[in-house]
Amino acid sequence: MGALRDRFWERPLTDLNTEEWEALCDGCGRCCLHKVEYEDTGEIEHTNVACKLLDTQTARCTDYRHRRAFVPDCLRLTLRIVDKVSWLPPTCAYRLRADGLPLPRWHYLISGDRDDVVSAGVSVAGRVIGEDLAGPLEHHIVDWGDDNEESAA
Ligand code: SF4
Repeated sequence: MGALRDRFWERPLTDLNTEEWEALCDGCGRCCLHKVEYEDTGEIEHTNVACKLLDTQTARCTDYRHRRAFVPDCLRLTLRIVDKVSWLPPTCAYRLRADGLPLPRWHYLISGDRDDVVSAGVSVAGRVIGEDLAGPLEHHIVDWGDDNEESAA
């Protein structure tokens, strides 16, 4: 077990201990949404359909510790793959730090308030539907406004 060091989020990702790595997540919930990938082109579209374990009102995983028992293909973001996951939002703390960029001012590690990710319009809380209710993913393709880099500031 490693303790959270002072301003650990300013350190390179390679220098973070397990607890610091976990604490870096802003809780936006974007990586807990289903995507549609077209076989012929490899293009990926985003949807507003949430994994069955995501609380759609808070955008928090309801069983993070045991999630892979229920969702075996749940992505485990690691240092090795963080550069390869093309669909992470530009606001994602791992993506920002992998690119050597600072965390945004609404990130809870900076602001001190975990709800600021919601106020900043970055969280998917209250904006998604559970996979059990959704029906075909193709009916739920959405643009999360990732071209707008404002929210990453
Ligand atoms: S997209 Fe990044 S910051 Fe958002 S929940 Fe996933 S890992 Fe955390």
